[in-house]
Amino acid sequence: MTAAKRTLVTGGAGFLGSHLCERLLRDGHAVLCVDDFSTGAEGNIAHLRSSPRFQVLPHDITQPFDAEVDQIYNLACPASPVHYQADPLRTMRTSVIGALNLLELARKRNAVILQTSTSEVYGDPMVHPQPESYWGNVNPIGVRACYDEGKRCAETMFFDYRRQHGVRTKVVRLFNTYGPRMRPDDGRVVSNFIVQALRGEDLTVYGTGAQTRSFCYVDDLVEALVRMMATADDVAGPVNLGNPGEFTILELAQKVLARIHSGARIAYHPLPGDDPRQRRPDIARAHELLGGWWPQVDLDTGLGRTIDYFRQQEGAA
Ligand code: NAD
Ligand code: UDP
Repeated sequence: MTAAKRTLVTGGAGFLGSHLCERLLRDGHAVLCVDDFSTGAEGNIAHLRSSPRFQVLPHDITQPFDAEVDQIYNLACPASPVHYQADPLRTMRTSVIGALNLLELARKRNAVILQTSTSEVYGDPMVHPQPESYWGNVNPIGVRACYDEGKRCAETMFFDYRRQHGVRTKVVRLFNTYGPRMRPDDGRVVSNFIVQALRGEDLTVYGTGAQTRSFCYVDDLVEALVRMMATADDVAGPVNLGNPGEFTILELAQKVLARIHSGARIAYHPLPGDDPRQRRPDIARAHELLGGWWPQVDLDTGLGRTIDYFRQQEGAA
């Protein structure tokens, strides 16, 4: 049993952050959730508010702040292409200046700090599946660059704070993760398809649907985040986290349609700019460093749980 820690979760009211806060509280930690509620929602954390160990600070991480903390998970950043491209300069500021502020906080408080980076650092990958040793293929001036390059810059700062100031940093690269508490208007593919199917609307497949992604269920991802934070100080990463099961977007659409019988069909739309053609994590490093961690929830099971969640939400709407 690890000792209770004062834990800061930025982006704690978001999809992943809210699941992480819940898990950390269950493990006995005190949790400070910092969020500006730009893509997060009070509804994601309302059920945690009754805990005396849970605190919420509405705050934009591009502005410095102070808190007495032992460990920091930095999740604050819009993650859906629709949302991160809506205000690209804000996305860049959040990724870069936000991370800088948190690294300074970690340095001042001698806290361990974990950065949720992304598979987007590999861009449209020329190496498949992607190991951490691959440096990536990112278009630095494209529409996705505010996110991809922002996250790449944050990784650089994490490693420089470790080298230059001895801060105990950890970097994980998350691959597509899905589950309950994604917003109905999140814009990412899993929530889009489920919500569209439930409403009897056409499923919007971009391009031919032949592009691939690997989808990780949220509980598996949160388990890996917690294990990464518990690693020895010399474990800096980067470590890929995701589910190596790889599917075309068309296969995903068909899986959703097979489960939701609403008369919805597939409608093809133009492929957005710089959309990666394939993506699949090599998770050998995570398996080795995180005590044999391996995703437990396959896509069919995870989709079932996520559909149940959205059914309830849509019913309540
Ligand atoms: P999300 O949009 O649901 O959560 C992001 C949270 O950060 C929201 O609550 C939002 O309000 C908050 N936020 C955004 N900008 C902020 C700012 N300047 N100050 C304070 N709070 C701010 O997205 P998510 O899927 O939960 O992603 C969480 C983190 O994981 C992000 O950093 C994202 O880049 C990373 N990630 C997620 C995935 C995924 O598939 N879910 C994949 C790769 C990386
Ligand atoms: N996509 C799609 N229809 C949608 C949303 C997304 O076909 O309604 C595609 C998108 O073009 C991409 C894949 O699904 O190829 C994953 O998109 P998402 O936005 O979920 O994540 P990311 O592109 O960042 O991996």
